Amino acid sequence: MSAALMASGAGAKVLLVDAGARLGGATALSAGCFYASNTRLQKELGIEDTPEAMYTYGMALNRYRMEPSVFRRFCDETAGALHWLMDLGVEYRADMLDANDVSGVPRCHWAAGRGESVAATLEGRLEPAGVQVATNTRVRKLVVDNGTVSGIEVEGEIFRSKAVVVSSGGFGANDELLSKHYPSANTKGHWYIGPPTSQGDSLAFGEAVGADLTGANRGLQLMSPGLARTLEMPPPWILLVNALGRRFMKESVPYCVYNSLFEAQPDRKAFAILDHETFTNPPRSPNPGTDWNADVLASSLKAGRIATGATLEELAGKLAVRREALVQTVARYNEHVAAGEDPDFFKQPEHLRAIGEGPYYAATMTMQILCFTSYGLRIDRDARVQDKAGRPIPGLYAAGEASGGLMGEVYLGSGNSIANAVTMGRIAGRNAASYSQSNATRA
Ligand SMILES: Cc1cc2nc3c(=O)[nH]c(=O)nc-3n(C[C@H](O)[C@H](O)[C@H](O)COP(=O)(O)OP(=O)(O)OC[C@H]3O[C@@H](n4cnc5c(N)ncnc54)[C@H](O)[C@@H]3O)c2cc1C
Repeated sequence: MSAALMASGAGAKVLLVDAGARLGGATALSAGCFYASNTRLQKELGIEDTPEAMYTYGMALNRYRMEPSVFRRFCDETAGALHWLMDLGVEYRADMLDANDVSGVPRCHWAAGRGESVAATLEGRLEPAGVQVATNTRVRKLVVDNGTVSGIEVEGEIFRSKAVVVSSGGFGANDELLSKHYPSANTKGHWYIGPPTSQGDSLAFGEAVGADLTGANRGLQLMSPGLARTLEMPPPWILLVNALGRRFMKESVPYCVYNSLFEAQPDRKAFAILDHETFTNPPRSPNPGTDWNADVLASSLKAGRIATGATLEELAGKLAVRREALVQTVARYNEHVAAGEDPDFFKQPEHLRAIGEGPYYAATMTMQILCFTSYGLRIDRDARVQDKAGRPIPGLYAAGEASGGLMGEVYLGSGNSIANAVTMGRIAGRNAASYSQSNATRA
Protein backbone atom coordinates (compact mmCIF):
# COMPACT_ATOMS: atom_id res chain seq x y z
CA MET A 1 0.00 0.00 0.00
CA SER A 2 2.90 2.36 0.74
CA ALA A 3 4.45 1.55 -2.64
CA ALA A 4 1.11 1.97 -4.43
CA LEU A 5 0.47 5.37 -2.86
CA MET A 6 3.96 6.66 -3.64
CA ALA A 7 3.78 5.40 -7.23
CA SER A 8 0.37 6.93 -7.85
CA GLY A 9 1.52 10.15 -6.17
CA ALA A 10 4.38 10.23 -8.67
CA GLY A 11 1.90 10.01 -11.53
CA ALA A 12 1.79 6.28 -12.24
CA LYS A 13 -1.38 4.32 -12.90
CA VAL A 14 -1.40 1.63 -10.22
CA LEU A 15 -3.14 -1.71 -9.75
CA LEU A 16 -2.75 -3.22 -6.26
CA VAL A 17 -3.38 -6.96 -6.17
CA ASP A 18 -3.73 -8.81 -2.86
CA ALA A 19 -4.27 -12.51 -2.21
CA GLY A 20 -6.12 -11.78 1.04
CA ALA A 21 -9.82 -11.18 1.46
CA ARG A 22 -8.82 -7.81 2.86
CA LEU A 23 -5.74 -5.65 2.60
CA GLY A 24 -3.20 -5.32 5.37
CA GLY A 25 -1.54 -8.72 5.73
CA ALA A 26 0.70 -9.05 8.78
CA THR A 27 0.83 -5.27 9.12
CA ALA A 28 -2.85 -5.11 10.11
CA LEU A 29 -2.32 -7.79 12.81
CA SER A 30 0.78 -6.17 14.22
CA ALA A 31 1.33 -3.80 17.12
CA GLY A 32 2.14 -1.08 14.59
CA CYS A 33 5.47 -0.23 16.18
CA PHE A 34 7.79 1.70 13.84
CA TYR A 35 11.56 1.92 14.40
CA ALA A 36 12.91 5.29 13.31
CA SER A 37 15.58 7.87 14.10
CA ASN A 38 15.61 11.67 14.00
CA THR A 39 11.83 11.94 14.22
CA ARG A 40 9.52 14.79 15.20
CA LEU A 41 8.42 12.84 18.28
CA GLN A 42 12.00 12.28 19.44
CA LYS A 43 12.64 16.01 19.05
CA GLU A 44 9.49 16.79 21.02
CA LEU A 45 11.06 14.88 23.91
CA GLY A 46 14.46 16.47 23.42
CA ILE A 47 16.03 13.20 22.23
CA GLU A 48 18.97 13.75 19.93
CA ASP A 49 19.26 10.99 17.37
CA THR A 50 20.55 10.61 13.84
CA PRO A 51 20.33 8.10 10.98
CA GLU A 52 24.11 7.79 11.35
CA ALA A 53 23.73 6.66 14.98
CA MET A 54 21.03 4.16 14.00
CA TYR A 55 23.25 2.88 11.20
CA THR A 56 26.24 2.44 13.52
CA TYR A 57 24.09 0.63 16.09
CA GLY A 58 22.52 -1.72 13.52
CA MET A 59 25.80 -2.57 11.84
CA ALA A 60 27.55 -3.25 15.16
CA LEU A 61 24.63 -5.31 16.47
CA ASN A 62 24.81 -7.43 13.33
CA ARG A 63 28.59 -7.64 13.25
CA TYR A 64 28.53 -5.93 9.86
CA ARG A 65 26.69 -8.85 8.28
CA MET A 66 24.27 -6.52 6.54
CA GLU A 67 24.06 -4.85 3.17
CA PRO A 68 25.51 -1.44 4.13
CA SER A 69 24.05 0.59 1.25
CA VAL A 70 20.54 -0.80 1.69
CA PHE A 71 20.62 -0.44 5.44
CA ARG A 72 21.98 3.11 5.21
CA ARG A 73 19.23 4.15 2.79
CA PHE A 74 16.71 2.66 5.21
CA CYS A 75 18.18 4.56 8.19
CA ASP A 76 18.13 7.79 6.20
CA GLU A 77 14.48 7.43 5.29
CA THR A 78 12.73 6.00 8.35
CA ALA A 79 11.87 9.42 9.77
CA GLY A 80 10.35 10.57 6.47
CA ALA A 81 8.30 7.38 6.25
CA LEU A 82 7.04 7.71 9.83
CA HIS A 83 6.12 11.38 9.35
CA TRP A 84 4.30 10.44 6.14
CA LEU A 85 2.20 7.88 8.06
CA MET A 86 1.50 10.47 10.75
CA ASP A 87 0.51 13.07 8.15
CA LEU A 88 -1.84 10.53 6.57
CA GLY A 89 -3.51 10.18 9.96
CA VAL A 90 -1.85 7.32 11.86
CA GLU A 91 -1.58 8.33 15.50
CA TYR A 92 1.94 8.07 16.88
CA ARG A 93 2.54 9.97 20.12
CA ALA A 94 5.62 11.06 22.02
CA ASP A 95 4.33 9.52 25.26
CA MET A 96 4.30 6.10 23.54
CA LEU A 97 7.90 6.29 22.34
CA ASP A 98 10.34 3.90 24.02
CA ALA A 99 13.62 2.04 23.63
CA ASN A 100 12.61 -1.60 23.28
CA ASP A 101 16.05 -2.46 21.97
CA VAL A 102 19.62 -2.45 23.27
CA SER A 103 20.69 0.93 21.90
CA GLY A 104 19.19 2.83 24.81
CA VAL A 105 17.90 5.43 22.32
CA PRO A 106 14.10 5.61 22.15
CA ARG A 107 13.34 4.73 18.53
CA CYS A 108 10.33 2.44 18.94
CA HIS A 109 7.28 4.46 17.90
CA TRP A 110 4.13 2.59 18.94
CA ALA A 111 0.96 3.31 16.97
CA ALA A 112 -1.96 4.24 19.23
CA GLY A 113 -4.29 2.19 17.04
CA ARG A 114 -1.79 -0.66 16.55
CA GLY A 115 -1.09 -2.12 13.09
CA GLU A 116 -4.78 -2.07 12.32
CA SER A 117 -4.65 1.73 12.20
CA VAL A 118 -1.58 1.71 9.95
CA ALA A 119 -3.26 -0.65 7.48
CA ALA A 120 -6.67 1.05 7.62
CA THR A 121 -5.16 4.52 7.12
CA LEU A 122 -3.16 3.42 4.10
CA GLU A 123 -6.14 1.54 2.69
CA GLY A 124 -8.35 4.61 3.10
CA ARG A 125 -5.98 6.61 0.90
CA LEU A 126 -5.93 4.20 -2.03
CA GLU A 127 -9.21 5.10 -3.69
CA PRO A 128 -8.75 8.88 -3.47
CA ALA A 129 -5.29 8.38 -4.97
CA GLY A 130 -6.79 6.48 -7.89
CA VAL A 131 -5.19 3.13 -7.03
CA GLN A 132 -7.24 0.23 -8.35
CA VAL A 133 -7.50 -2.66 -5.89
CA ALA A 134 -8.20 -6.36 -6.41
CA THR A 135 -8.44 -8.51 -3.28
CA ASN A 136 -8.80 -12.32 -3.18
CA THR A 137 -6.43 -12.29 -6.12
CA ARG A 138 -3.23 -14.30 -5.79
CA VAL A 139 -0.48 -13.51 -8.25
CA ARG A 140 1.05 -16.72 -9.55
CA LYS A 141 3.74 -15.48 -11.86
CA LEU A 142 5.55 -12.44 -13.15
CA VAL A 143 5.43 -11.73 -16.88
CA VAL A 144 8.89 -11.35 -18.38
CA ASP A 145 9.77 -10.11 -21.86
CA ASN A 146 13.43 -10.34 -22.85
CA GLY A 147 14.57 -10.17 -19.24
CA THR A 148 12.31 -7.23 -18.37
CA VAL A 149 9.45 -7.70 -15.92
CA SER A 150 6.33 -6.38 -17.58
CA GLY A 151 3.31 -7.60 -15.68
CA ILE A 152 1.70 -10.28 -13.56
CA GLU A 153 -0.27 -13.44 -14.18
CA VAL A 154 -3.41 -14.22 -12.19
CA GLU A 155 -5.50 -17.33 -12.81
CA GLY A 156 -4.03 -17.61 -16.32
CA GLU A 157 -4.87 -13.99 -17.13
CA ILE A 158 -2.07 -11.56 -17.89
CA PHE A 159 -2.00 -7.95 -16.69
CA ARG A 160 0.72 -5.90 -18.32
CA SER A 161 2.54 -3.07 -16.59
CA LYS A 162 5.76 -1.14 -16.98
CA ALA A 163 6.97 -2.11 -13.52
CA VAL A 164 6.03 -4.47 -10.68
CA VAL A 165 6.63 -4.03 -6.96
CA VAL A 166 6.55 -7.35 -5.08
CA SER A 167 5.42 -6.79 -1.49
CA SER A 168 3.74 -10.11 -0.82
CA GLY A 169 5.13 -10.58 2.69
CA GLY A 170 7.08 -13.53 4.07
CA PHE A 171 6.65 -17.30 4.32
CA GLY A 172 5.88 -17.80 8.00
CA ALA A 173 2.74 -19.77 7.15
CA ASN A 174 4.51 -22.15 4.78
CA ASP A 175 6.25 -25.00 6.64
CA GLU A 176 7.87 -26.38 3.52
CA LEU A 177 9.62 -23.08 2.77
CA LEU A 178 10.50 -22.67 6.45
CA SER A 179 12.26 -26.04 6.44
CA LYS A 180 14.22 -24.95 3.40
CA HIS A 181 15.10 -21.37 4.23
CA TYR A 182 14.60 -20.89 7.98
CA PRO A 183 14.93 -24.36 9.50
CA SER A 184 15.66 -23.09 13.00
CA ALA A 185 12.17 -21.53 13.06
CA ASN A 186 10.44 -24.73 12.04
CA THR A 187 10.69 -26.27 15.48
CA LYS A 188 8.34 -28.98 16.67
CA GLY A 189 5.20 -27.23 17.88
CA HIS A 190 6.13 -23.74 16.67
CA TRP A 191 3.41 -21.36 15.56
CA TYR A 192 3.30 -18.35 13.30
CA ILE A 193 1.41 -15.29 14.51
CA GLY A 194 0.88 -13.70 11.08
CA PRO A 195 -1.74 -14.31 8.40
CA PRO A 196 -2.19 -17.48 6.30
CA THR A 197 -1.35 -15.46 3.18
CA SER A 198 2.34 -15.44 4.17
CA GLN A 199 3.13 -18.22 1.72
CA GLY A 200 6.40 -16.87 0.32
CA ASP A 201 5.21 -16.53 -3.27
CA SER A 202 7.91 -13.93 -3.87
CA LEU A 203 10.54 -16.68 -3.74
CA ALA A 204 9.02 -18.52 -6.69
CA PHE A 205 8.56 -15.24 -8.58
CA GLY A 206 12.22 -14.48 -8.04
CA GLU A 207 13.50 -17.92 -8.95
CA ALA A 208 11.59 -17.83 -12.23
CA VAL A 209 13.14 -14.52 -13.28
CA GLY A 210 16.70 -15.26 -12.13
CA ALA A 211 16.60 -12.99 -9.08
CA ASP A 212 19.14 -13.41 -6.34
CA LEU A 213 17.69 -14.45 -2.98
CA THR A 214 19.25 -13.56 0.35
CA GLY A 215 18.69 -13.56 4.12
CA ALA A 216 18.47 -17.32 4.79
CA ASN A 217 17.74 -18.28 8.40
CA ARG A 218 16.83 -14.71 9.31
CA GLY A 219 13.62 -13.51 10.86
CA LEU A 220 12.30 -13.19 14.38
CA GLN A 221 11.47 -15.92 16.85
CA LEU A 222 10.33 -15.43 20.42
CA MET A 223 10.56 -17.71 23.42
CA SER A 224 7.41 -19.23 24.81
CA PRO A 225 6.27 -22.14 26.96
CA GLY A 226 3.30 -22.63 24.60
CA LEU A 227 0.72 -21.92 27.30
CA ALA A 228 -1.72 -20.19 24.98
CA ARG A 229 -0.08 -20.24 21.53
CA THR A 230 -0.53 -16.51 21.10
CA LEU A 231 2.01 -13.71 21.15
CA GLU A 232 2.79 -14.58 24.77
CA MET A 233 5.79 -12.64 25.91
CA PRO A 234 6.95 -14.05 29.23
CA PRO A 235 6.72 -11.74 32.21
CA PRO A 236 10.00 -10.09 33.28
CA TRP A 237 9.70 -11.36 36.86
CA ILE A 238 10.43 -14.99 35.96
CA LEU A 239 13.71 -16.66 36.92
CA LEU A 240 15.13 -18.32 33.82
CA VAL A 241 17.73 -21.08 33.98
CA ASN A 242 19.23 -23.41 31.39
CA ALA A 243 19.69 -27.18 31.64
CA LEU A 244 22.90 -26.55 33.55
CA GLY A 245 20.81 -24.91 36.25
CA ARG A 246 22.33 -21.48 35.60
CA ARG A 247 20.92 -18.12 34.63
CA PHE A 248 22.15 -17.00 31.23
CA MET A 249 20.33 -13.75 30.51
CA LYS A 250 18.55 -10.83 32.08
CA GLU A 251 15.00 -12.16 31.94
CA SER A 252 13.68 -8.74 30.94
CA VAL A 253 16.14 -8.24 28.07
CA PRO A 254 14.49 -6.86 24.91
CA TYR A 255 13.37 -9.69 22.67
CA CYS A 256 15.47 -8.45 19.77
CA VAL A 257 18.62 -9.97 21.27
CA TYR A 258 17.71 -13.12 23.18
CA ASN A 259 17.50 -15.26 20.06
CA SER A 260 21.25 -15.72 19.95
CA LEU A 261 21.37 -16.35 23.70
CA PHE A 262 18.94 -19.23 23.27
CA GLU A 263 20.96 -20.60 20.38
CA ALA A 264 23.88 -20.98 22.77
CA GLN A 265 21.96 -23.01 25.41
CA PRO A 266 21.82 -26.81 25.59
CA ASP A 267 18.92 -27.97 23.37
CA ARG A 268 18.04 -24.30 22.74
CA LYS A 269 15.79 -24.29 25.76
CA ALA A 270 15.37 -22.79 29.21
CA PHE A 271 13.11 -23.16 32.23
CA ALA A 272 11.07 -20.47 33.97
CA ILE A 273 11.03 -21.30 37.69
CA LEU A 274 8.10 -20.20 39.85
CA ASP A 275 7.31 -20.74 43.51
CA HIS A 276 3.84 -21.60 44.80
CA GLU A 277 2.91 -18.02 45.69
CA THR A 278 3.78 -16.71 42.20
CA PHE A 279 2.16 -19.69 40.53
CA THR A 280 -1.15 -19.15 42.30
CA ASN A 281 -1.03 -15.37 42.35
CA PRO A 282 1.14 -14.13 39.46
CA PRO A 283 1.74 -10.38 39.26
CA ARG A 284 0.44 -8.60 36.18
CA SER A 285 3.01 -8.41 33.44
CA PRO A 286 3.92 -5.18 31.69
CA ASN A 287 4.50 -7.16 28.49
CA PRO A 288 1.83 -7.26 25.80
CA GLY A 289 0.01 -10.44 24.95
CA THR A 290 1.14 -12.25 28.09
CA ASP A 291 -1.16 -15.00 29.24
CA TRP A 292 0.53 -15.93 32.49
CA ASN A 293 -2.44 -15.51 34.79
CA ALA A 294 -3.45 -17.97 37.52
CA ASP A 295 -6.06 -19.74 35.37
CA VAL A 296 -3.73 -20.25 32.43
CA LEU A 297 -0.96 -21.51 34.72
CA ALA A 298 -3.32 -23.91 36.52
CA SER A 299 -4.76 -25.34 33.31
CA SER A 300 -1.26 -25.65 31.83
CA LEU A 301 -0.17 -27.63 34.86
CA LYS A 302 -3.17 -29.92 34.40
CA ALA A 303 -2.37 -30.33 30.72
CA GLY A 304 1.22 -31.29 31.54
CA ARG A 305 2.78 -28.18 30.00
CA ILE A 306 4.15 -27.12 33.38
CA ALA A 307 6.26 -29.41 35.59
CA THR A 308 6.10 -29.39 39.36
CA GLY A 309 8.09 -30.67 42.31
CA ALA A 310 7.72 -30.42 46.07
CA THR A 311 11.35 -29.31 46.29
CA LEU A 312 13.75 -27.62 43.89
CA GLU A 313 15.73 -30.88 43.78
CA GLU A 314 12.66 -32.85 42.75
CA LEU A 315 11.78 -30.26 40.11
CA ALA A 316 15.33 -30.32 38.76
CA GLY A 317 15.12 -34.10 38.48
CA LYS A 318 11.95 -33.87 36.41
CA LEU A 319 13.47 -31.27 34.11
CA ALA A 320 16.84 -33.03 33.80
CA VAL A 321 18.43 -29.84 35.12
CA ARG A 322 21.55 -30.01 37.33
CA ARG A 323 20.11 -30.13 40.86
CA GLU A 324 22.89 -28.59 42.87
CA ALA A 325 23.26 -25.76 40.37
CA LEU A 326 19.54 -24.97 40.41
CA VAL A 327 19.45 -24.84 44.21
CA GLN A 328 22.53 -22.60 44.23
CA THR A 329 21.13 -20.34 41.48
CA VAL A 330 17.87 -19.86 43.37
CA ALA A 331 19.71 -19.08 46.61
CA ARG A 332 21.90 -16.51 44.87
CA TYR A 333 18.94 -14.98 43.05
CA ASN A 334 17.06 -14.65 46.33
CA GLU A 335 20.05 -12.83 47.84
CA HIS A 336 19.87 -10.35 44.94
CA VAL A 337 16.15 -9.89 45.47
CA ALA A 338 16.73 -9.19 49.16
CA ALA A 339 19.48 -6.69 48.30
CA GLY A 340 17.29 -5.08 45.63
CA GLU A 341 19.90 -5.39 42.91
CA ASP A 342 21.03 -7.99 40.39
CA PRO A 343 24.81 -7.75 40.05
CA ASP A 344 24.89 -10.80 37.76
CA PHE A 345 22.56 -9.74 34.94
CA PHE A 346 21.39 -6.28 35.98
CA LYS A 347 17.67 -7.00 35.92
CA GLN A 348 15.69 -3.98 37.06
CA PRO A 349 14.90 -4.18 40.81
CA GLU A 350 11.15 -3.95 40.15
CA HIS A 351 11.32 -7.23 38.22
CA LEU A 352 13.21 -9.12 40.92
CA ARG A 353 10.90 -11.53 42.72
CA ALA A 354 12.08 -14.06 45.30
CA ILE A 355 11.60 -17.79 44.82
CA GLY A 356 9.98 -18.65 48.16
CA GLU A 357 8.21 -21.72 49.45
CA GLY A 358 7.41 -24.79 47.35
CA PRO A 359 5.91 -26.61 45.70
CA TYR A 360 7.84 -25.29 42.70
CA TYR A 361 6.85 -25.09 39.07
CA ALA A 362 8.68 -24.81 35.76
CA ALA A 363 7.59 -23.90 32.27
CA THR A 364 9.92 -25.05 29.50
CA MET A 365 10.76 -22.15 27.20
CA THR A 366 11.74 -22.69 23.58
CA MET A 367 11.82 -20.39 20.57
CA GLN A 368 8.38 -21.41 19.38
CA ILE A 369 6.77 -18.17 18.23
CA LEU A 370 7.56 -17.13 14.68
CA CYS A 371 6.89 -13.45 13.97
CA PHE A 372 8.28 -12.93 10.48
CA THR A 373 10.83 -14.13 7.94
CA SER A 374 13.58 -12.16 6.18
CA TYR A 375 14.70 -14.37 3.29
CA GLY A 376 13.63 -12.89 -0.01
CA LEU A 377 14.43 -11.06 -3.23
CA ARG A 378 17.78 -9.32 -2.95
CA ILE A 379 17.25 -5.60 -3.33
CA ASP A 380 19.62 -2.70 -3.74
CA ARG A 381 19.35 0.71 -2.05
CA ASP A 382 16.69 1.75 -4.58
CA ALA A 383 14.57 -1.36 -3.85
CA ARG A 384 15.42 -2.75 -7.29
CA VAL A 385 15.57 -6.55 -7.33
CA GLN A 386 18.99 -7.83 -8.33
CA ASP A 387 19.89 -10.83 -10.46
CA LYS A 388 22.56 -13.29 -9.42
CA ALA A 389 25.26 -11.14 -10.99
CA GLY A 390 24.18 -8.08 -9.00
CA ARG A 391 22.43 -6.33 -11.89
CA PRO A 392 18.98 -4.85 -11.35
CA ILE A 393 16.26 -6.82 -13.11
CA PRO A 394 14.52 -4.19 -15.24
CA GLY A 395 11.00 -3.44 -14.05
CA LEU A 396 11.20 -5.39 -10.77
CA TYR A 397 11.11 -3.87 -7.27
CA ALA A 398 10.51 -5.41 -3.85
CA ALA A 399 9.95 -4.32 -0.26
CA GLY A 400 9.06 -5.66 3.17
CA GLU A 401 9.28 -9.32 4.06
CA ALA A 402 9.23 -10.31 0.39
CA SER A 403 12.67 -8.75 0.03
CA GLY A 404 16.04 -9.74 1.43
CA GLY A 405 19.12 -7.71 2.19
CA LEU A 406 17.88 -5.13 4.62
CA MET A 407 17.21 -7.19 7.73
CA GLY A 408 20.21 -8.55 9.60
CA GLU A 409 20.53 -11.63 11.80
CA VAL A 410 19.62 -9.55 14.83
CA TYR A 411 16.47 -7.47 14.99
CA LEU A 412 17.22 -3.80 15.62
CA GLY A 413 14.33 -3.51 18.07
CA SER A 414 10.56 -3.28 18.09
CA GLY A 415 9.32 -1.70 14.88
CA ASN A 416 12.16 -2.75 12.57
CA SER A 417 9.90 -4.82 10.34
CA ILE A 418 7.08 -2.35 9.74
CA ALA A 419 9.68 0.35 9.22
CA ASN A 420 11.17 -1.94 6.57
CA ALA A 421 7.82 -2.52 4.84
CA VAL A 422 6.77 1.14 4.79
CA THR A 423 10.15 2.80 4.23
CA MET A 424 11.34 0.45 1.50
CA GLY A 425 7.80 0.26 0.10
CA ARG A 426 7.84 4.02 -0.39
CA ILE A 427 11.25 3.83 -2.06
CA ALA A 428 10.10 0.96 -4.30
CA GLY A 429 6.90 2.76 -5.33
CA ARG A 430 8.69 6.02 -6.07
CA ASN A 431 11.39 4.33 -8.15
CA ALA A 432 8.98 2.00 -9.95
CA ALA A 433 6.97 5.04 -11.01
CA SER A 434 9.97 6.93 -12.29
CA TYR A 435 11.26 3.81 -14.08
CA SER A 436 7.92 3.30 -15.82
CA GLN A 437 7.78 6.95 -16.82
CA SER A 438 11.28 6.83 -18.26
CA ASN A 439 10.20 3.75 -20.22
CA ALA A 440 6.81 5.14 -21.17
CA THR A 441 7.11 4.25 -24.82
CA ARG A 442 7.57 0.57 -24.05
CA ALA A 443 4.44 -1.57 -24.34
C1 LIG B 1 1.03 -10.22 15.58
C2 LIG B 1 2.20 -9.49 14.95
C3 LIG B 1 2.73 -8.38 15.59
C4 LIG B 1 3.77 -7.68 14.98
N1 LIG B 1 4.17 -6.49 15.53
C5 LIG B 1 5.10 -5.76 14.85
C6 LIG B 1 5.40 -4.43 15.26
O1 LIG B 1 4.77 -3.87 16.16
N2 LIG B 1 6.39 -3.76 14.59
C7 LIG B 1 7.07 -4.31 13.52
O2 LIG B 1 7.94 -3.68 12.98
N3 LIG B 1 6.74 -5.55 13.10
C8 LIG B 1 5.77 -6.25 13.69
N4 LIG B 1 5.42 -7.47 13.19
C9 LIG B 1 6.00 -7.88 11.89
C10 LIG B 1 5.42 -6.99 10.80
O3 LIG B 1 4.04 -6.77 11.04
C11 LIG B 1 5.58 -7.58 9.41
O4 LIG B 1 6.88 -8.08 9.24
C12 LIG B 1 5.31 -6.52 8.35
O5 LIG B 1 4.06 -5.90 8.61
C13 LIG B 1 5.32 -7.14 6.98
O6 LIG B 1 4.85 -6.22 6.03
P1 LIG B 1 4.79 -6.64 4.51
O7 LIG B 1 4.17 -5.51 3.79
O8 LIG B 1 6.10 -7.13 4.04
O9 LIG B 1 3.82 -7.91 4.47
P2 LIG B 1 2.28 -8.01 4.83
O10 LIG B 1 1.83 -6.90 5.71
O11 LIG B 1 2.06 -9.40 5.32
O12 LIG B 1 1.57 -7.80 3.43
C14 LIG B 1 1.75 -8.74 2.40
C15 LIG B 1 0.49 -8.80 1.59
O13 LIG B 1 0.74 -9.57 0.40
C16 LIG B 1 -0.37 -10.38 0.12
N5 LIG B 1 0.06 -11.51 -0.70
C17 LIG B 1 0.79 -12.61 -0.33
N6 LIG B 1 1.03 -13.39 -1.42
C18 LIG B 1 0.44 -12.79 -2.46
C19 LIG B 1 0.33 -13.11 -3.84
N7 LIG B 1 0.89 -14.19 -4.38
N8 LIG B 1 -0.39 -12.29 -4.65
C20 LIG B 1 -0.98 -11.16 -4.15
N9 LIG B 1 -0.90 -10.81 -2.85
C21 LIG B 1 -0.18 -11.60 -2.01
C22 LIG B 1 -0.91 -10.76 1.48
O14 LIG B 1 -2.29 -11.10 1.39
C23 LIG B 1 -0.67 -9.49 2.30
O15 LIG B 1 -1.79 -8.65 2.32
C24 LIG B 1 4.35 -8.17 13.76
C25 LIG B 1 3.83 -9.29 13.14
C26 LIG B 1 2.74 -9.93 13.70
C27 LIG B 1 2.15 -11.08 12.94
